Formats: sequence, C-alpha cells, structure tokens
Amino acid sequence: AYVIGLPCVDIKDRSCVDECPVDCIYEGRRALYIHPEECVDCGACEPVCPVDAIYFQDDLPEEWGDDHAASNAEFFAT
Ligand code: SF4
Repeated sequence: AYVIGLPCVDIKDRSCVDECPVDCIYEGRRALYIHPEECVDCGACEPVCPVDAIYFQDDLPEEWGDDHAASNAEFFAT
C-alpha cells in the first residue's frame, strides 16, 4: 500500500483525496491516512501531493523512522 508520511502533518492539502479511485484516504486530526488494506496501489495520489508526503510503503524515506507507520496503524485501529 501507499503511505502518507510526516510532511502531511498540519498541511492536509487533500489533493490526494480527489484522486483516489477507491476513496481509501481518510482524514485524521493532524494528517491524512491511507487505509493499508483498501489501497489498490494505483499510485494516483503520489504525484499530486504538494508536499511529497506519499510513498509506496517500501520506499518511505528512512529518516521518517517508524513513527508514521505506528500512527497509521493507530489511526485505523480505532
Ligand atoms: Fe488511493 Fe491509489 Fe493512492 Fe492507494 S495508491 S491511496 S488506491 S490513489
């Protein structure tokens, strides 16, 4: 799945939401989140993000660490 990372925090531009064909991008308190099981890996959201927050899960910048993965899991656990 694709993942939205740190640059989205407090930005929430929402350009990606309009592009997603399966509506699997959800709005959290401070960032947007992609549902890992609903995402069909089409990649449509990635190029439209103005802050480059979206990456395929295996290509996430290492310097973001595990925090975004944890917050993603936490968001969908509730
Ligand atoms: Fe939606 Fe496609 Fe982006 Fe997945 S990769 S979140 S399906 S637009």
